[in-house]
Amino acid sequence: MKVLVVNSGSSSIKYQLFDMTDESVLAKGLVERIGISDSIINHYPSDREPVITHQDIPNHRVGIKLMMDALLHSEYGVIKDVSEISAVGHRVVHAGEKFSGSVLLTDEVMDALKECIELAPLHNPPNILGIEVCKELMPGIPQVGVFDTAFHQTIPECAYLYGIPYKFYKKYKVRRYGFHGTSHKYVAQRAAEILEKPLEELKIITCHLGNGSSITAVKNGISIDTSLGFGTVAGIIMGTRCGDFDPAIIPFLMDKEKLTVEEINKIIYKESGFLGLSEGISSDKRDLRERANQGDERAIRTISAFTYGIKKYIGAYAAAMGGVDAIVFTAGIGENSKETRAEACEGLEFLGVKIDPEKNKVSAKEAIISNDDSKVKIMVIPTNEELMIAKDTAEISANL
Ligand code: ADP
Repeated sequence: MKVLVVNSGSSSIKYQLFDMTDESVLAKGLVERIGISDSIINHYPSDREPVITHQDIPNHRVGIKLMMDALLHSEYGVIKDVSEISAVGHRVVHAGEKFSGSVLLTDEVMDALKECIELAPLHNPPNILGIEVCKELMPGIPQVGVFDTAFHQTIPECAYLYGIPYKFYKKYKVRRYGFHGTSHKYVAQRAAEILEKPLEELKIITCHLGNGSSITAVKNGISIDTSLGFGTVAGIIMGTRCGDFDPAIIPFLMDKEKLTVEEINKIIYKESGFLGLSEGISSDKRDLRERANQGDERAIRTISAFTYGIKKYIGAYAAAMGGVDAIVFTAGIGENSKETRAEACEGLEFLGVKIDPEKNKVSAKEAIISNDDSKVKIMVIPTNEELMIAKDTAEISANL
């Protein structure tokens, strides 16, 4: 069974074609700069050289058509006919409170996703567009939606409600949703497999640390709390997003600096986090580390605030779950930065968290990096959201 995974963003489309018999990737690719000049199609067949093509791509319809052409190409394609694709799995950012798992994208589901546009105005429209074009170009092939928010729908009311008038929850569904759910679910499942223990018996804290970051408490296989919330700015500080801060600052700054809603939004989403706190050094963790190593105070304080945030969430989620069996680090920073992992775990020995400096030297591969006598297993697990989407898609389409 071959499953195509599509992640349709505002100006790019990422795709991977899986052979589910052995979960191998037959080809993957990235269509970039859709609707902008100098559009590019990067196609990577697993057994041949990459093919990079420059072509005008005015819209997603053309982008997806070119993705199909690449997959079917006589020289660098990996399938001969569209009918070889058994199902298509789509990454969708926001499914509101409607879905707690992946589903077949029926007309009814599409309507529900459209209702969520106001909750994710930047992400849901291109996701929906990608689905509509795939439905049109691949008629009769099941299309499945896998939602970033779904895994967190198990979070209890006490953790998803905010302390603002309840009418805003009723009127506008203002609550914690959480994101990166597919990644948290994948690494939690892998952690259980690696530890050879049932997921249903484990308390795991999953730290997805990338440009966007979130930390999740996974108790007995389900998410019970997560650091991102209604939007994608809460929790620990990120590349350009602010993380948790006192909401009183928003009206204060709007008044002082005479800011519009758009301007304050830009500050908290695009000008804060690593970039803002370091006074413009970089939104990229590697640049900050390099500058910190040279003694730059701005980089040092930014990194300290970041790792302090991770440590605080680990403590909070250990309390929320009544203990912790494993801490998992994933995504760009979590998989690669031994310094971040060491600093986040430092001082948590009282919880039974003991990192092994030698084992911690690992980068971008699965490993247990705690001491043998550490009560809590500390793990590095590269995330694989595409495989998770492909697995869900295969399962749903097999049961049709
Ligand atoms: P996204 O959220 O966009 O998917 P990634 O998961 O790719 O982001 O993470 C990007 C972050 O990972 C950047 O801050 C980058 O500096 C960091 N990163 C990537 N590789 C390394 C590395 N080898 N060492 C430290 N940080 C790294």
